[in-house]
Amino acid sequence: FWLDCVNKFKEDLPPQQFNTWIKPLKFDSSDGIPRLIAPNRFILQWVKDKFLARIEEMVEAHFSEPLLLLLSLPDTPENNTTQPTIAAAATPVRQNTKPDQSRLNPLFTFSNFVTGKANQLARAAAIQVAENPGTAYNPLFVYGGVGLGKTHLIQAIGNLVKEQNSKAKISYLHAERYVSDVVRAYQHKAFDDFKRYYHSLDLLLIDDIQFFAGKNRTQEEFFYAFNALIEDHKQVIITCDTFPREIAGMEDRLISRFGWGLTVAIEPPELEMRVAILLKKARAEEIKLQEEVAFFIAKQIRSNVRELEGALKRVLAYSRFTGHPINLELAKEALKDLLAVQNRQVSLDNIQKTVADYYKIKVAEMFSPKRSRNVARPRQVAMALAKELTQSSYPEIGDAFGGRDHSTVIHACRKITELKISDPTISRDFEILLQILRS
Ligand code: ADP
Ligand code: MG
Repeated sequence: FWLDCVNKFKEDLPPQQFNTWIKPLKFDSSDGIPRLIAPNRFILQWVKDKFLARIEEMVEAHFSEPLLLLLSLPDTPENNTTQPTIAAAATPVRQNTKPDQSRLNPLFTFSNFVTGKANQLARAAAIQVAENPGTAYNPLFVYGGVGLGKTHLIQAIGNLVKEQNSKAKISYLHAERYVSDVVRAYQHKAFDDFKRYYHSLDLLLIDDIQFFAGKNRTQEEFFYAFNALIEDHKQVIITCDTFPREIAGMEDRLISRFGWGLTVAIEPPELEMRVAILLKKARAEEIKLQEEVAFFIAKQIRSNVRELEGALKRVLAYSRFTGHPINLELAKEALKDLLAVQNRQVSLDNIQKTVADYYKIKVAEMFSPKRSRNVARPRQVAMALAKELTQSSYPEIGDAFGGRDHSTVIHACRKITELKISDPTISRDFEILLQILRS
């Protein structure tokens, strides 16, 4: 913990200040009470006056339990003779009395969560759970790719539960933090405290549980916490980047428990939903965004909502910076670099669609086992294009084409290389497709 703090100060402070005030501090928690030890009273006083607030913030951000941090002088015999001074200097920094330990971000709410086909099930389930915590679906397991709104959605549940019941004991935490809590409990032999805290919650929100993979002690502790909470009808909500059974390195007994309640997916948003999200974010920032511009951004940025937001921020910043109003031209200019990068990364998906389109066959035929010439050849062209335009390996390409063996892909690439020389039609097709996909 202290190392993190030191690093943050190092970033924030001029080196001279850092070296004078922060570097000499030592962190010690060998007797179970975390203490910061200053080499002399002068530094101690200065740190107390100037940096304590900041350290308090970090302590709060880092530890989930109420924590008493002492700031003191070293326990040298010399100091011990002046015992009263030490006692006086030992200032309790934080007897954490702040009632809200939930770590919820109040900005993540249902009202600013845009709904569409991609997330309507997840959202409906989330509202159910928020309105009937512990009884509707327990646990609620939300999964989906990065930047699709998992964190937003489960924090919205937390915020709604809190609104309805200000006394509810709620804890939102990223799985990594839970792991480090387990480590800390281990180091301090404080599993009793750990259990007392986690097993007494009304609502536990664990984000990105795939981080538990391979961490056995964490999984064991979580297993106990999970059982205790569910047994007491306390709500557990989990997010993950994959479907439970696909999490590698997770104990079976946990995986099966994840399915006890309801498992819902969040999919990537479709075009109209992306536009709606952009318009909503713009409105929240009190910025007028023409639909035309929103459509342009949404068409370009397809991967996830976080990147969509990033693109919008870029356009706004560019407009502020240049003093020009937001219009299509400005958006194109602002996103130029971003799009150049994106365009270089052609997706396998896109290749399959484009090639299928070009040869007027169904996209499904890219994955189908059918071997008739009219689909086999386009499929081979698509595989060769995939090799040329993406970083994917032969096995990955095989997977993407209906789970074909990598040797099939190698064969396809060789075949197309030959045909490009011997068959002018294929050669022309290939060139045209390359151009379409690269543009
Ligand atoms: P994840 O946890 O799935 O990686 P986040 O919840 O962090 O994704 O979402 C990334 C960003 O996109 C956040 O700023 C979030 O507010 C926003 N976002 C995601 N989905 C939506 C949505 N449906 N409506 C509005 N904002 C969204
Ligand atoms: Mg998240």
